[in-house]
Amino acid sequence: MLTVEQALELIAQHSKPLAPVRVPLGEAFGLVLAEDVRSDIDSPPYDKAMMDGYAVVSSDRNPVRQVLEEVAAGAVPHHAVVPGTATSIMTGAPLPEGADAVVPIERTELIDVGSVRLHQVDPNPGQHVLPLGASLRAGETVLREGALLRPLDIAILAEFGHAVVAVRPQPRVAVLPTGNELVPVGEKPAAGQIRNSNGPLLLAALRQVGAEAIDLGIARDDRDDLRRRIGQGLAANMVLLSGGVSAGKFDLVPEVLAELGVEQVLHKVALRPGKPFWFGVRRQPDHNVLVFGLPGNPVSSFVCFELFVRPAMAALAGRGFVHPRSVTARLSHAYDHPGGRAACLPARVADSGLADAAEHCLPSSRAGYGLTVEILPWKGSADLAALARANSLARLPTEAQHFEPGMLVEVLLV
Ligand code: AMP
Ligand code: MG
Repeated sequence: MLTVEQALELIAQHSKPLAPVRVPLGEAFGLVLAEDVRSDIDSPPYDKAMMDGYAVVSSDRNPVRQVLEEVAAGAVPHHAVVPGTATSIMTGAPLPEGADAVVPIERTELIDVGSVRLHQVDPNPGQHVLPLGASLRAGETVLREGALLRPLDIAILAEFGHAVVAVRPQPRVAVLPTGNELVPVGEKPAAGQIRNSNGPLLLAALRQVGAEAIDLGIARDDRDDLRRRIGQGLAANMVLLSGGVSAGKFDLVPEVLAELGVEQVLHKVALRPGKPFWFGVRRQPDHNVLVFGLPGNPVSSFVCFELFVRPAMAALAGRGFVHPRSVTARLSHAYDHPGGRAACLPARVADSGLADAAEHCLPSSRAGYGLTVEILPWKGSADLAALARANSLARLPTEAQHFEPGMLVEVLLV
């Protein structure tokens, strides 16, 4: 059986960034830039006043100046400043010709409408002026391909005139829970039935990362129904199936996928919970569709989503095949890991020193504390209720290991 690392390696090989699309700037937040972006202007585009005050010639020592005009932000000056004169100027406005410094309004006194007395007659050249192009020159690169666009980056793109940008789109992901025992959330399960919780779980998890989620309903353990619904899903970039991938008589998913031209890449991983996990691709000329067969048991389904699907979605969106929220934490208790399979267990992470650190105004890492993790008791992979307290999954290696309290464990925050 494949190890988790081998499975991740195989999935990573098939998880290529989606082709770039051009979107309006207002839709680019959270996406990865697919082009280098240059400035079309100098920033600032003119010598810019950085204070409200008077634009002056810095070498002029006259205490009283004739006021030539008033220039607000958005306006342009009409008169050149020469010794003996000054122009009333607002923050953000372009400096008039001849002027090379701004004396702040607080250091001046208006004598009458046409003249002002300066309490500072010896400003340094360039005082309170941001020279043309000081921040960036036209043609310079402002952001590089691969940048994950934060609000700050959106502001930069706006300043430099990029109303439309090339980005990697988020994947479109279809979700299909399978099983004759499943009823929709709104129904009371009859004998032998259970409510479909994996569907809502996966749809919500997709929404959380900003992927486009497509709800394919619930499939019966029936070849025709599976074929029809999975067929619809193959129009997306990814298909997430739950159930039907174990070794039971009605676990028809791998067969139906083969009929639909989806090549199996791997089936079964040495992982607890999550052993029946299935992954395959349908090769298409324009883009390959990634198909994930998650085990039906809710905890297994969730673990496989976090461990295998989440990094693949990050890769398609151009962020690389990474677990976005992987940290290390110290175990708060001893733990005997039986080994044989790697484990990915419901856990609760806490910031041990948060209160003390806050008292000393220090981030907890600097205060010498850090994250601690407790592996939660749970009753097998159908025990979704035990997951309610979990905020993370603790990853344990394939090999057996006795963990002492305080030992470091890798944890996925969920
Ligand atoms: P399977 O992998 O199809 O053998 O399913 C294993 C078990 O997972 C089933 O017996 C159900 O109890 C449970 N299960 C399957 N699908 C779902 C689902 N969509 N929501 C909740 N539980 C499920
Ligand atoms: Mg089933």
